[in-house]
Amino acid sequence: MSKKIVIAGAGIGGLCAALALAKRKFEVVVYERNSQLSEVGAGLQLSPNAMHVLQALGIANEVKAKAFSPDSAVMRHYKTGKPYFTVPLGDNATQKYGAHYLHIHRADLHTALYNACVNMNVTIHLGKAIQSYQQTQQNLTIHFDNNESIKADLLIGADGIKSNIQACMLGKKPAEFTGQVAWRGVVKASKLPKGLIKPSANLWVGPGKHFVSYYLRGGDLVNFVAVQERKDWQKESWNEPGDIDELRATFADWHPEITKLLSVTNHCFLWALFDRQPLEQWSDRKVTLLGDACHPMLPFLAQGAAMAIEDSYALAYCLACDTDIQNALQSYQNIRLPRTQKIQHNARKNAALYHMSSPIEQAKLTLVSALSSIGFSDKIAANKLDYIYAYNIVEQLSMGSESLIIN
Ligand SMILES: Cc1cc2nc3c(=O)[nH]c(=O)nc-3n(C[C@H](O)[C@H](O)[C@H](O)COP(=O)(O)OP(=O)(O)OC[C@H]3O[C@@H](n4cnc5c(N)ncnc54)[C@H](O)[C@@H]3O)c2cc1C
Repeated sequence: MSKKIVIAGAGIGGLCAALALAKRKFEVVVYERNSQLSEVGAGLQLSPNAMHVLQALGIANEVKAKAFSPDSAVMRHYKTGKPYFTVPLGDNATQKYGAHYLHIHRADLHTALYNACVNMNVTIHLGKAIQSYQQTQQNLTIHFDNNESIKADLLIGADGIKSNIQACMLGKKPAEFTGQVAWRGVVKASKLPKGLIKPSANLWVGPGKHFVSYYLRGGDLVNFVAVQERKDWQKESWNEPGDIDELRATFADWHPEITKLLSVTNHCFLWALFDRQPLEQWSDRKVTLLGDACHPMLPFLAQGAAMAIEDSYALAYCLACDTDIQNALQSYQNIRLPRTQKIQHNARKNAALYHMSSPIEQAKLTLVSALSSIGFSDKIAANKLDYIYAYNIVEQLSMGSESLIIN
């Protein structure tokens, strides 16, 4: 008899896991707290390591058709625009890593995942929040916030950084405010002078702040993320309308490409950035975690969703390979934990570099700037990203080169 798997959360991680599991013939039911399926109106960078999984799940072409392929990633000085380094993407990335590097609207990726899940007969219940679970040696019981309960063979907590499943497994511990906020917005490219925004992943770094801009939907939209260190954050909400005048004032002395982009922006969201210390345990008998529920990270390597996508493939693979759920979950954790911990850690380190937050970081940037004139910083930057982008979990698992040994 096939196992009944319940997933808490229909975000990118939950839907990707549902699709990966359905492709391996598991019966999957997803419960989403929100009564409507929706994604934040913002962009997402999808690196080749994530695209390998979307290719294996059969939605890479649909995603590519809705996305924008940047020709490079460029880090620049916030005022002068002088590049610190340029990492070639576009065809270069496709040849080097065997998959595309894309920019996609989150809603487009979410819709592609949702449609693929529906086609695979995944059941998705909206407006139902999972509160907690209880388990004995034989039974796993899942409790909803309306006092209903169900039984299942396995529960996957893909319920984001404020995960109820994680709280039930490891005890309630609030996520930590990182002292940084992100404004996010999307603007029609037609409102801007042609060619103003370069067809790259544009990263501008300056004291205490950084700014990212890139095209979405084949170049019709421009997405931006503006991050500022702000220790005084008091609000509970993570995602509320931002004050556009405040945003413009915060970046008023930055490069004209940024001030022009903000001058045609009417709406933005303000998003406080939270994370957690890396966890050492993701599973508890027949319950496991995935995505931001177990490894929330600062977006400074643009890898949070990519890691949830990789998790999904690894989890479905492990469950298909081992009928003993506990063994399978241990294998999943063995494969995923070291990689996600490393990326969590390195994303935090990037905050200091981008924001020039200490004399050491300023000296590093001065050195990078000097090396850029001889093209050396480009090579260093590209090599530093290889461990992320060149990783192909689909290939690694099919060749058996990932360790499934249970510690
Ligand atoms: C400014 C910013 C920029 C980013 N840029 C990138 C990028 O370029 N590339 C990248 O890869 N990542 C990026 N990320 C990270 C990425 O957005 C997240 O890592 C990713 O969305 C996590 O997906 P998830 O499914 O694990 O969690 P979430 O997206 O948080 O989804 C969790 C889902 O669970 C639901 N839920 C919550 N509680 C319950 C419950 N009790 N019961 C049922 N349902 C529940 C929620 O409503 C939600 O739908 C960025 C993040 C930020 C903040």
